[in-house]
Parts: sequence; structure tokens; C-alpha cells
Amino acid sequence: MPNDRQRDSMLRSAGASWRRRRRGLAPWLLVGLYVAIGLTPLLLAVFRGEPPVDPFRELSSGVVMIGFAMMLLQFLLSGRFRRITGRVGADITILFHQLIAWVILVFVVAHPFLLSAPGLWPNPGEAVATLRGMFGANVLLSGVIAWCLLILLVVMGHWRDRLPMRYEFWRLSHGLGAVVIALASLHHTLSVGGHSGDPWLGGFWIVLTAAAVVSLAHVYVVRPALQLRRPYRLVSNREIGDRIWEIQVEAERGRAIDFAAGQFIWLNLGHSPFSLMEHPFSLSSTPADRPRLAVTVRESGDFTNRIGEIPLGTRAYVDGPYGTFTLARRRGTGVAFFAGGVGLGPIIGLLRELAQERYEGPVYLLYGNRVETQILYRDELEAMRDTLDFRLHLILSEPSADWTGRVGELTPDVIDACLERRFPKDWLYFVCGPVPMMESVEETLLARGVPPRRIVSERFKYS
Ligand SMILES: Cc1cc2nc3c(=O)[nH]c(=O)nc-3n(C[C@H](O)[C@H](O)[C@H](O)COP(=O)(O)OP(=O)(O)OC[C@H]3O[C@@H](n4cnc5c(N)ncnc54)[C@H](O)[C@@H]3O)c2cc1C
Repeated sequence: MPNDRQRDSMLRSAGASWRRRRRGLAPWLLVGLYVAIGLTPLLLAVFRGEPPVDPFRELSSGVVMIGFAMMLLQFLLSGRFRRITGRVGADITILFHQLIAWVILVFVVAHPFLLSAPGLWPNPGEAVATLRGMFGANVLLSGVIAWCLLILLVVMGHWRDRLPMRYEFWRLSHGLGAVVIALASLHHTLSVGGHSGDPWLGGFWIVLTAAAVVSLAHVYVVRPALQLRRPYRLVSNREIGDRIWEIQVEAERGRAIDFAAGQFIWLNLGHSPFSLMEHPFSLSSTPADRPRLAVTVRESGDFTNRIGEIPLGTRAYVDGPYGTFTLARRRGTGVAFFAGGVGLGPIIGLLRELAQERYEGPVYLLYGNRVETQILYRDELEAMRDTLDFRLHLILSEPSADWTGRVGELTPDVIDACLERRFPKDWLYFVCGPVPMMESVEETLLARGVPPRRIVSERFKYS
């Protein structure tokens, strides 16, 4: 165990990377603002609206108002606004976006049923007739459109991978569908909503809807326009493993984006910045490598399968950086990395940064692959023993007969053996790879007493 002086030295030697600020609202402030904005229409209705008449009607308008406010907040929580969600991280933001979508759906779908509920007794046919009347009324058309489209949008989002459409078209339909729902809901609320006459409530809905639509326009119009002024060029494109490529782009002018090792960017190679042809990739280079940025890409679909064919010199655009898979504001007396396959991408960036900063604490890398040809940056990893107190464990699940290293996957017994059953609470534990591997590692670390805030994960797949 390190003594106090050594511990201080280790903390200091975490270097400039841990001092780096993380942009974004503090999580408690974000939650507070979310709850406050979500409840504002309800409070306005209570304090300024008419006295309650029918409990079902009040409940119906209460849940749909909260649902509508949450729906508009979804635009701002799309993961692209670092000043808002930068400290929470894109994966948590997107997970929240996906889960909350179901809550919104329940609130909105319940709205007409609650309105018709008083007719259920003694004659249920009356409730059915009320519902049919609502869905057929011209004056309610905008509400019916928003109601139906919302169901479609949430269902399509959930089963996106099974839809026979390209990811880019799904994204376009998701964005456009969301705008139509927001505008139709606004029209419905202002024209026939229970408290539509109140100017404060009306003003609230107009301002929040405008903020939502402007935020989307910012992502798809303003930001691409700004990217036009900061073009990059593809300067290196080489296969570094079995169907795995290292792509390097360089800023044509200036120093390239400012980032922390381990973050990710949205990379657009060879398309207009206004097109939707951009993909998220983790940076494997460090800030010291700027103006060059490097990403490590595994072939896994229509864009990545052809990435090796993109000619050098191709124009590129970069949006970012995003993500919290970094050493910024994190200190540890030791660091353990768990990588699976191309999950090494952001981790090699972090290792390079630790090596550049001459980090003095122990550093472990448990790196799992199927076969030997998939091991990336092997020579560089071996050489890190010269600059870091580095323990490298290469693990193969389907090794050839001459493999002398460890065999298996990152299972609890393998993790125990590699870390010599030591799981210090003041270390940092970084995990990136296929989802089942990540879940297994995270569960093992938690079971061994590692505090959750010491485990930092990056998921390449959100659903
Ligand atoms: C935060 C993050 C970091 C990532 N870092 C890396 C990395 O360093 N190296 C690497 O090889 N892969 C990384 N990925 C995964 C990579 O983005 C996808 O493999 C790639 O976009 C697939 O594109 P495709 O057109 O080849 O495949 P497709 O067949 O079109 O898509 C396969 C799956 O990839 C996802 N995907 C596709 N396009 C997008 C998109 N524009 N935005 C978000 N998801 C998309 C979808 O889940 C889709 O179902 C990362 C993903 C995320 C979310």
C-alpha cells in the first residue's frame, strides 16, 4: 500500500488531465430544473386556473400537461448540448431520453381515456361513444395527430434496430416527427386545452415549444454552418486489426477541437455538414496530438464497412467533443482499464495521456479479444511498461494453439486473477467494450466493493 507521501505524489502526477473542467450543469441542478419546468404548468393551472370541477378532467389535464412539458424537454436532452448535459454524459442522457419517452407516452395516451372515464359507469358504452366522438372531432384533429404520431415515434425508437430503414433515415424521421408532434400539441393545447385561456400558461407553452424547436434547428442547421468554417481532412486511413481501422483527420486551419482524452466526436467523412451522415466515434488520440485527431473504427455496418475505401484528402467535419469517459476531475491512486475489442479506442487515448503525464500510480489493462489478430496497438502497449507502472493482461477467448497468454473472457475469476484480488476503493476503473462484457465487469467490480462513482463506462450502443 502506498504511504501518504507516495499517495500525494500519485494524485499530483495525474497531471493536467484531472484538472480539466467538465462543462455542463451539475447533476443536482439539472434534476432540479427538470422537475421545476415539468411542474410549472401544473402550478400555473392550480394558482391561476378555474376551480376544479370534475376529478377525472383535472387528472387528465394534469398528466397531459406534465407529459407535454417533458416531451419538450426531450429536445434539450438529446445529448448534443454540452452546456446542459456535459457533466452527466451522453449515455446517461440518452438512456434517460429513452426511458422518459415511455413515461410521456403513458401520460399522453391516458389523456383521452381519463376524459372519457366518467362515462364508464353505469353504461360503459357512453365512455366508448365519448372516445369515438373525441377522435372524430375536427376541432381536436391536431391533438389526435400528436397522439398517434407520439405512439409511432416511441415504438419506432424502441424497435429501431429491427426497422428496415437506414439509421440516418430513422434519425431524420425521429427529428421531423418530434417537431410535428410539438407543434400539433401546442396548437391543441392553446385552442382547446383546459386552461387555454390563461395568458401565463399560454406564454409558457409557446416559450418552451420555441426553445425545443430552436434547439433542434441549432443541432441541424446552426452547428453544421459553424462546422463549415472549421473543416478537417482525412490524412491517414490504415487497417490496424482484423476489420478495424485507424482513421486520422487533421484540422485544415487552427488547432482542432479542444477535448479530453477518452471523449467522443461525431465524425462526418466526405459529406456536407448539413447531411445526417455523421457517426459517433471515441477519440484514441490525446490533446497533445492536435491538430490531428484519431479514431479507431470497427467495421459494423453500411458506413463503417467501407471506411477503408475513403480516399486520403477527403473533407471531414467534426462535432464535439462529448462524453465523460475521461480523467477530468477524477483522481485515483491507481487506474484499471477493462477493454473488449474496439473498446480499446478511448482507452488507448487515456493510456497515452497517462504515459505523457508520467503517471506514477499502478495502471492495469485487461484487454479481451476473440483472436490474436484483433489485438490493437500491441507493440505500443508492451512499450508502455517503460513509462508507466503498467500491467498488461491480454486475454483471448479463441486463441490459436501457440498462444501462451491468458485464455477466456473478462469473467469474475479472470478479473480476480489479473487484479490479484485487490480492488482499492480509491482507484479508477474504466470499462469499454461489448455490452455483455461491460455488464459482467461492472457487476464484478460492484460485487468486490468498488464504489459506483469510481466506475466509468462508455457504451457504443445505447439501446
Ligand atoms: C458514444 C459512442 C462512441 C462510439 N465509439 C466508437 C469507436 O470508437 N469505434 C467504433 O468502431 N464504434 C464506435 N461507436 C459505434 C459506432 O458509432 C457505430 O458502430 C457506427 O455508427 C455504425 O455505423 P454503420 O453505418 O457502419 O452501421 P449501421 O448498420 O448503420 O448501424 C449499426 C448500429 O450502429 C448505431 N449507429 C449507426 N449510425 C449511428 C449514428 N449516426 N449515431 C449513433 N449510432 C449509430 C446504431 O445502433 C445502429 O443500429 C460508438 C458509438 C457511440 C454511441
